[in-house]
Amino acid sequence: SHSSTGRSDIRSREAFARAKQVIPGGVNSPVRAFKSVGLNPVYMERGQGSRVFDIDGNSYIDYVASWGPLIMGHAHPEVVEAIKRTAEKGTSFGAPTELETLMAELVCERVPSVDVVRMVNSGTEATMSALRLARGFTKRSKIVKFEGSYHGHADSLLIKAGSGVATLGLPDSPGVPESIASQTITVPYNDIESIKLVFEKYGEEIACVIVEPIAGNMGVVPPLPGFLQGLRDITEQYGSLLIFDEVMTGFRVHYSSAQGLYGIKPDITCFGKVIGGGLPVGAYGGRRDLMELMAPSGPIYQAGTLSGNPLAMAAGYTTLKLLTPETYELLERQAVRLQHGFEANAKAAGVASTINRVGSMVCPFFTETHVINYDTAKTADLDRFKAYFAAMLELGVSVAPSQFEGMFVSAVHTDEDIDATIAANATALSRL
Ligand code: PMP
Repeated sequence: SHSSTGRSDIRSREAFARAKQVIPGGVNSPVRAFKSVGLNPVYMERGQGSRVFDIDGNSYIDYVASWGPLIMGHAHPEVVEAIKRTAEKGTSFGAPTELETLMAELVCERVPSVDVVRMVNSGTEATMSALRLARGFTKRSKIVKFEGSYHGHADSLLIKAGSGVATLGLPDSPGVPESIASQTITVPYNDIESIKLVFEKYGEEIACVIVEPIAGNMGVVPPLPGFLQGLRDITEQYGSLLIFDEVMTGFRVHYSSAQGLYGIKPDITCFGKVIGGGLPVGAYGGRRDLMELMAPSGPIYQAGTLSGNPLAMAAGYTTLKLLTPETYELLERQAVRLQHGFEANAKAAGVASTINRVGSMVCPFFTETHVINYDTAKTADLDRFKAYFAAMLELGVSVAPSQFEGMFVSAVHTDEDIDATIAANATALSRL
């Protein structure tokens, strides 16, 4: 079978049909199924640098980057070498290794709000554990999150969530007990007045506010000036904790993560994605007095058979070591070029468009509305996105199959990659 422009996808079709027999929806994470864009998912065979290659032999300039982690590109030689070297000595011990301490030292050094950090295996585990810590410390049970933000799939956090939940247009998930859901208060992103009202009403019961310092799961939505400082002030005023979910932004937007970019110090920070260099990792860390409440130094429990896994530590540590302040300047330059190219294309094609960007996170929205929260993100024309996504795929550019996800520029995207992407975008827009 061939698509209209000749991209063969016969093997991917077969692979998906087979997978659907034994894996729910054929995939191990929902958005990968391409359901909302009405296409067959593309099965990947390998990645190299800025490119991915599918099992039908097509190649794509990749801006999915495994949904964020691959800031140094696919199969970076130093990362692959570190994984190999480590694997030869054994894959897991369930005993401490020195590599875990090296990793923790690096995170604490780069992110000033983090005195102590615990490794886990995913972003979901990181946010789930951070919530438990906040509730255990404050002895309060309510939490505040923002509409259209995604913090993983823990019960407390699957309320008005972004990412795949938004992409699939799902209401709050069945299976989350009402007794838990009722403890989560949601407010619009970037709306400090709503937060003030919530605190006036429930302030003494609120354990924490959890926020993506740059929202990345309703497309890319930067914090408005004063928003993060406002959260810092009001949580302090009421004795609640401020949790930055930097699973996506951590080590992606700045050498010291988003908190370094904006100069705000949260109490607890969650990491994932980049920190694992493409292997399954999450982490949460923060003030020493808080983190020492976790077992075994304190009574709040959290554990993991594979936490601090040597292969994951090797991949993450090597990736972080490759990231210098200059890397972030390079990422910024390339992402700005992409943004300006897209803006010029949209103007030339007369297509309603708003491009949001922070550092290497770029999101073209099909709307003229200024996108500052989930409601404004939803003004985007999803049918247009669908057609655009399909065209980009045909033109050899891989972006996330959702209007509610950004593009990730990596340090190995070349000038030619960026130019080719801008050209593909122009062609895709002209076909809408
Ligand atoms: N928090 C944020 C901000 C995320 O973007 C994600 C994943 N996209 C998560 C948490 C969950 O991480 P994981 O998928 O590793 O569980």
